Parts: sequence; C-alpha cells; structure tokens
Amino acid sequence: MESQFQRAKGTCAQELDEAYAKVIKDTKGFLSVACPCCKQESLRAYWRQFGFARLPVENGYHEFRRGTGYLWCHACKTYGTWDGLLPFWWPKEDPLAALREQGAVNDVDDYDAHWDVIAKAIPWRE
Ligand SMILES: [Zn+2]
Repeated sequence: MESQFQRAKGTCAQELDEAYAKVIKDTKGFLSVACPCCKQESLRAYWRQFGFARLPVENGYHEFRRGTGYLWCHACKTYGTWDGLLPFWWPKEDPLAALREQGAVNDVDDYDAHWDVIAKAIPWRE
C-alpha cells in the first residue's frame, strides 16, 4: 500500500527539526507540540531502537539506546525521521513490539494507525 505520508519539505522541514530537538531534549516525557506545518494537531512520535551507543559520561561510559525517531502529524500527514539517541523517557520495551512480531508495523502509516497503543505506553508532559 502506498504511504499517505509525505516527508516535510522547506520551512516546514526546518520547523519540524526544531520540534524534534525540543522533544528529544526533554528528560521526563513526551512534550507534544503543535504541528509546525499545518498547526491543526499536536505531533505524534515513535522511536525504533536499533542498538546501543557506548558514550563517555562523568564516571566512565554509559550505554545509550540508539535508533530512529519519527515525528508526524495525523492531520496533514507530514513526517520527519532522525537517527540518533532515544529520549530517556522512551519505554524500555518497544510499545509496538507485539505488533512488529506479527509484521504489522513497518512505516509511519502503521505507527499512526497504532498511535493509541504508543500513547498509552509513553509518559506525557503537560
Ligand atoms: Zn500538520
């Protein structure tokens, strides 16, 4: 099936980058911001972990989770992806693990379709 979603372009892409930086920086939970492209709905998010990054910290090293982050808007079907570290607050177990095993989640269309599952599994910020 063809994707309903389109990658953000131009100013919209830049603003989505800024939104991602804000979301990833928060240490307590998901701070959803309004979609910068259509301003109609709050952005949705999902991270897929691919491995670990062993990085130096104050007292040695720490294994950070590494993967790909997705931000998208359900209203205008715009999305962006970023490779890097997962936010601290992202659940240890992938909220979509069971669905993924069934082969039911592969792209942002699927993440959006299962947003209710993701939203229940993540901690939220006001
Ligand atoms: Zn939008």
